[in-house]
Amino acid sequence: MYDTIVIGGGPAGMMAAIIAARNKKQVILLEKNQKLGKKLYITGKGRCNLTNDSEIENHLNHLTGNKKFMYSAFYTLDPYMTLEFFNQLGLITKVERGQRVFPISDHSSDVIKAFKKGLSKENVQVFYEEVESLVVENKVVKGVKTKTGSYKCRNVIVATGGYSYQMTGSTGDGYRFAKNHGHKTITPIQGLVPIEIKDEDIRNLQGLSLKNVKLKMINKNNVTIYEELGEMLFTHFGVSGPLVLSASSYISRDTKFKDIKLSIDLKPGLSIEKLDKRIIRDFDKYSRKALKNGLIDLMPSSMIPFIIKRAGLKEQMSVYEVTKEQRHNLIKIIKNIDLSISDLRGFNEAIITRGGVDVKEINPHTMESKIVKGLYFVGEVLDLDSLTGGYNLQIAYSTAYLAGLSICEKETT
Ligand SMILES: Cc1cc2nc3c(=O)[nH]c(=O)nc-3n(C[C@H](O)[C@H](O)[C@H](O)COP(=O)(O)OP(=O)(O)OC[C@H]3O[C@@H](n4cnc5c(N)ncnc54)[C@H](O)[C@@H]3O)c2cc1C
Repeated sequence: MYDTIVIGGGPAGMMAAIIAARNKKQVILLEKNQKLGKKLYITGKGRCNLTNDSEIENHLNHLTGNKKFMYSAFYTLDPYMTLEFFNQLGLITKVERGQRVFPISDHSSDVIKAFKKGLSKENVQVFYEEVESLVVENKVVKGVKTKTGSYKCRNVIVATGGYSYQMTGSTGDGYRFAKNHGHKTITPIQGLVPIEIKDEDIRNLQGLSLKNVKLKMINKNNVTIYEELGEMLFTHFGVSGPLVLSASSYISRDTKFKDIKLSIDLKPGLSIEKLDKRIIRDFDKYSRKALKNGLIDLMPSSMIPFIIKRAGLKEQMSVYEVTKEQRHNLIKIIKNIDLSISDLRGFNEAIITRGGVDVKEINPHTMESKIVKGLYFVGEVLDLDSLTGGYNLQIAYSTAYLAGLSICEKETT
């Protein structure tokens, strides 16, 4: 009979196991891969943006929903305590642009090493086995069944992650466990994911990356639901890059793609008047050239044929031939490239899963199920997600820490 079984050896599972095992409680961790932290290893392009070194308020503001639910978890383990936790396990970190925290070595493997150190310090045993089901009697958790046998325990922490990047082991098993025992799940959808675009005329832009542009997402009522400056890129299917990934997390579950569109402003730093003056200057300089050469100082060359075509002009026309009205048309396009969304890319390209176990049925002060006693859910399996910047990993640690602490402080009967 164990005190606690943690299912899943990702950041949430490892954190929960370490904390639950304090006070010498017997804790085991079951992971279906042959190693721990397979997804953690690929985070931050292998560098792991392990948290964001900022106030709780900022972390709350980056959640896409369920803010109230996260108060207790963030106040129990905030980003500063998280860094302290890792420092004590020998991980030295650095802060980069946007308060993003990385290991000083730039190696995500060092974060996994720190977790492993914590697990062995608290004598958590790790078994590489896949959990098939939970054992629950009269609404009280009693243990888990794996492919080869079963384990008995007083508490189970489900830390099986979401549904994205399935080759890392996150295949949605926790949703099944939850549903089988009376929990509601919010239908998972892809979050922080590239977007497929209908417009055929962008196909030639494949490979082009844009810096310092503004991306907007506009709904059918012409209300801007997302607006940010930054970087993005064109791909064979549509668009990707930091701005696009963030924008994707603002598409709500019930939105029909025909009801929203993207708009790119190539020159967000210039008002229409200033851009006009700038183009007039360029056109004076290149007055004897073809229009495609007249725009060379203003934008990447691969963008020029696209812009000219959208403005209804010809690449070969002379710059001096461009009328005032035609110039104004060009400006309209440069400030507002409309793109129609056809779909999101699949779960295997989604950084996170939105949706999951409904937090209404979870106690926010302990992470315990309100339906099954002794059953806890932590990390991405819950209906919680944030934007990029280290915020998603902080959700994993904070929810896991709170569950671990609640268990570790429980009187054993
Ligand atoms: C490419 C990529 C880059 C990312 N970069 C960042 C970043 O830099 N910063 C950031 O904050 N977030 C990042 N994220 C998001 C972050 O990785 C996740 O939010 C986080 O890993 C969730 O942690 P978790 O422990 O809840 O789940 P996971 O990390 O998914 O771990 C779940 C674990 O449970 C195991 N498991 C599942 N089912 C079973 C079962 N039945 N039995 C036993 N074990 C099971 C899985 O094998 C897996 O190891 C990134 C995600 C991706 C895909």
